[in-house]
Amino acid sequence: MKKRLQTNFLVIAALSILSVLILTTIVFYNFFQDEVMGNLQTYATMLERDMNEMSGSEQFSLDMEQMNDIRVTVITPAGNVLYDSNVEVNQLENHSDRPEVKEALKAGRGQSIRTSSTLSKTSFYYALKMESGNVLRLSKESQSYVSFLLQVSPLIGGISVLLFILSMVLSHLLAKSFVRPIERLADDMEGEQPVETAYKELKPLLITIQKQHEDIVKSSKMRQEFTANVSHELKTPLTSISGYSELIENGMAKGKDVVRFAGEIHTNANRLLTLINDILQLSELDFTDVQEDFAPVDLVKIMQQCVEMLTLNAKKHDITIESNVVDTSCVIQGNSKLLEELIYNLLDNAIRYNREGGKVFLSLQIEENRPVFRIKDTGIGISKEHQERIFERFYRVDKSRSKATGGTGLGLAIVKHIVVCHEADIEVQSEEEKGTEIIVTFREKNE
Ligand code: ATP
Ligand code: MG
Repeated sequence: MKKRLQTNFLVIAALSILSVLILTTIVFYNFFQDEVMGNLQTYATMLERDMNEMSGSEQFSLDMEQMNDIRVTVITPAGNVLYDSNVEVNQLENHSDRPEVKEALKAGRGQSIRTSSTLSKTSFYYALKMESGNVLRLSKESQSYVSFLLQVSPLIGGISVLLFILSMVLSHLLAKSFVRPIERLADDMEGEQPVETAYKELKPLLITIQKQHEDIVKSSKMRQEFTANVSHELKTPLTSISGYSELIENGMAKGKDVVRFAGEIHTNANRLLTLINDILQLSELDFTDVQEDFAPVDLVKIMQQCVEMLTLNAKKHDITIESNVVDTSCVIQGNSKLLEELIYNLLDNAIRYNREGGKVFLSLQIEENRPVFRIKDTGIGISKEHQERIFERFYRVDKSRSKATGGTGLGLAIVKHIVVCHEADIEVQSEEEKGTEIIVTFREKNE
């Protein structure tokens, strides 16, 4: 990229240098032509005045020194040369066809510029019709544009090379300053500081790249952690299963023990099944676009189903569930299976992390045209530091209590995922030893 930028800068610089130099010589040469013609005109006017005023042997007031290389010719109206300062008169042909002479005879004055056939010389002519009727013509020979260009070409070349070298240095520095922040970012993707650049248009790009990199690193770290957690979570029940079955296999378990060990194997196998189901569900949520098959879902009905499913569980711990629902139905666009999973998980937690004889309140209201689902318990509560983390995969506040009740720590991770899929918001309000309230606010209803 740097090489290419530099080459492009150089090509542009070279073209600009050349065109500027050529244009300058053209402008300069035009000035020179105007100057010569202007001089010829002044001399011709002065000479004509002198010739008109001169009687006998008086001197020209014009300094002839200045006119050293100016040729003076006097031509009759018929075109015959009466006088010429440089050439013998009788060697000269009739001049009536010269453009400047023709013009002078017609309009009083005329001028012309002619370049020799070899292109090496240019002649400037200025002609004036005198009072006598004859034409006074002054001419001066100088270099043509081509020979002028040839003469100044070493200078032009020298300047071009110098400017080119300067452009090379500048384009190198420019390309470097342009590419430097990108290179720096590539070298140090993990850098805490945002990359500095003098080009403000580059900044959003660099920030996006840095942010994307951070996200990639974060998600790869999360995946690593997840794999490690899954392996660990699988290992524990499997170790138990393997251990208890080995005892039975070796005949070391007798009578009641066999039943107890078989019970342990059963519990751990169930744990494994729940765990695998949760993992499968999470990965399904990760990879499928659930919004594709959204359909109208009645939240009131789902709430009732979940309460029914968990009533027995609640009764076991002497927990009462109370519901407060605005209407007989509340239909939203969503995935019924996932919404059931969402409410089930929250209700399951509200019962599991409650106290004997505790209460769970469920409510569904419409607030600002948005269905709001609230679930409040009178349980153990969650301290502030844990509140932020409970939605992480495998995060459990009290590992022993959660495990004792068969928790995998994936429930709220799944809940969070489902909330995001439904473009809803989730909020936790909790106080230790008092209880927890979780509020899910769904999208605005269309009708
Ligand atoms: P799973 O739901 O997968 O069976 P789990 O209940 O342990 O297992 P989550 O539902 O993700 O996992 O909950 C994470 C942790 O948050 C729980 O272990 C518990 O410590 C805490 N928690 C969740 N809900 C409540 C609640 N209502 N009251 C108190 N603590 C809670
Ligand atoms: Mg749970």
